[in-house]
Order: sequence, then structure tokens, then C-alpha cells
Amino acid sequence: MSSITGKTKICGIIGDPIEHTMSPAMHNAAFEALGLDYIYLPFRVRREELKGAINGIRALNIAGLNVTIPHKSDVIPLLDKLDPLAEGMGAVNTIVSEDGKLIGYNTDAPGFLQALRAKGIEPEGKKVVILGAGGAAKGISFILAEAGASLVILNRTLSRAVALAAQIAKSYGRSAKAMILNEENLKQALPGADVLVNTTSVGMVPDMNETPVPAGLLQPDLTVFDIVYNPRETRLLREAKAASARTIDGLDMLVWQGARAFEKWTGREAPFEVMKQAAVKELADER
Ligand code: NAP
Repeated sequence: MSSITGKTKICGIIGDPIEHTMSPAMHNAAFEALGLDYIYLPFRVRREELKGAINGIRALNIAGLNVTIPHKSDVIPLLDKLDPLAEGMGAVNTIVSEDGKLIGYNTDAPGFLQALRAKGIEPEGKKVVILGAGGAAKGISFILAEAGASLVILNRTLSRAVALAAQIAKSYGRSAKAMILNEENLKQALPGADVLVNTTSVGMVPDMNETPVPAGLLQPDLTVFDIVYNPRETRLLREAKAASARTIDGLDMLVWQGARAFEKWTGREAPFEVMKQAAVKELADER
């Protein structure tokens, strides 16, 4: 980090807990690589302090913030403006302070799409099977529907998959199929699918031996995208590779969402590889 002066611009992340965030490592490495006079700090903010923290952005002239669990929805009424994707998703992960106005964006789902496109996959006309119907699944299914993919959503709790499919039909005029996540339905959904996306937390530390899909259902024509990033190679991705399927890991999505936020705060193209190496190192140091 270059020295901090009276001109240094401040960015950061608010959440609770915040100890394990990789964002400070990614953004500070990017600022340094481009010689930008910025610093990125972690702020642990409890639920009851959220309003004070957002007022603090204005009071302290902070340039921008990332927002993580548990504040992504609660922050919305405290902002001045939302971009349409963040509004549709009901979740903000990036705040930009523009002339004293706080604008809320969501760069998680665009980060997912960019990671997919970086591997040469254009969603239009593709059949995508999504596992999960939580916060991450919502943004990912919205952005895929918007990009012209046809979707099948499988979730442990059927009602959440049904509700998400209904929202997609309402917002994008595309019908999405909703099913319970089990082996029988996976056998029905996977043949003919181009992309399988795991948005459940199955396979994440400490349950690294778990997988949401039996290995026998994975085949070479499939691209398997697991958004879990800890561990980087989940059991699902390991078994997908063994089945000669193409794989994309969650770290790429994480770094692309950070890159998008960086670009909004600085107006500069983010150094993706620098950010990725910083995140890889941070993940290794956590072990
Ligand atoms: P969330 O809103 O809590 O949703 C969790 C989802 O996982 C739900 O669909 C839930 O099903 C399902 N699930 C949890 N345990 C399960 C189990 N044992 N069996 C089957 N399904 C199970 O969480 P989220 O914010 O969407 O995050 C989900 C995962 O994505 C986390 O691992 C997170 O770290 C990762 N993520 C990665 C990125 C990235 O940039 N790479 C970004 C965001 C999130 P029910 O509805 O039945 O509970």
C-alpha cells in the first residue's frame, strides 16, 4: 500500500461477521497495481448499527462500500437510488457515493455472467439447471433469464423454487420449471442441459465431502459452475472434471463481482488477474 494522505479515497465492506472477507486483499492489490490513491477497509457493522453506518458514509465522505451478509436487503431503504437489477433482486452488494447521493448496485449476478462468458459460454438459447433458490440463485436466475437462457430450478424446499420461477415468469416473461432437488428430478432435468449451476451451500467448508449431484449424472457435454469458493475445487467440480465436463469455480464469480465494484468506484478497468491472485493467496492463508 502506498502512503495514506489527506487525498486518499476510502472504500470498504460492511457485514457481520467480516473476519473472513477476501475483499480487502483483492481491492487493495488492485489499487496498488494501478497506482490509485485509494484504501479498502473492513467494517464490522451489527444489524442495529446499519443506519448509523450508512449515515457514516455520507458524514465521512467514503467513496464506496461493499455490503455483505446480513445487510444486503436491509440497506435498501437507506439509499437514495437503486439500479434496476438491485431493485429487482431486492439486494445490494455495492454502494457508490456520487455527489453525496448513495446509489445501490448488485454486482454478484453480473459477476456470475462475466465468469460464464469468460469461459466462452453465451447463455442465450442454453438450457441451464440451477440448484438452489436462495439469495445467490435469485440474481443468477434473473440475469440468465434476461440473457435468454431457459431455466430449470431445483431446490430442497420446493416452495422457494416455485416462488422464484413465478418471479422469473413475471419479470422476464420466460417460464422456468421448478422441482424438488432430489436424484429422480436431477435424472429428469440434466439430460440435454448445457450448464449446471450449484448455488446451494452443499460442498462448502466444513462439509467438503458433500455434493448435490451424484457423480454418475455428470457427462462431458455439461459445463458445471459451482459458486461455492471455499474450497475452490468442491467435490462436485472434482467429479465433473473426472466426467470430462467443463468446470468453472466460485472464485471467478467472486473476483468478477469485485472487479465490477472496483470499476464503479474508480472508473478504471479492474486488473482481474491481480485481484484473483490476491484472492487465491487469501484463501490459501485461511487454511
Ligand atoms: P442462502 O440464501 O442461504 O441459500 C442457500 C441455498 O442452499 C438454499 O437454496 C438452500 O435450500 C440450499 N441448501 C442449504 N443447505 C442445503 C442442503 N443441505 N441440501 C440442499 N440444499 C441446501 O445462501 P446464498 O447467499 O444464496 O449462498 C449460497 C452459496 O453460494 C454459499 O455457499 C455462498 O458462499 C455462495 N456464494 C458465492 C458467491 C460467489 O461470488 N462465488 C456469491 C454469493 C454466494 P433451502 O431453500 O431448502 O433452504
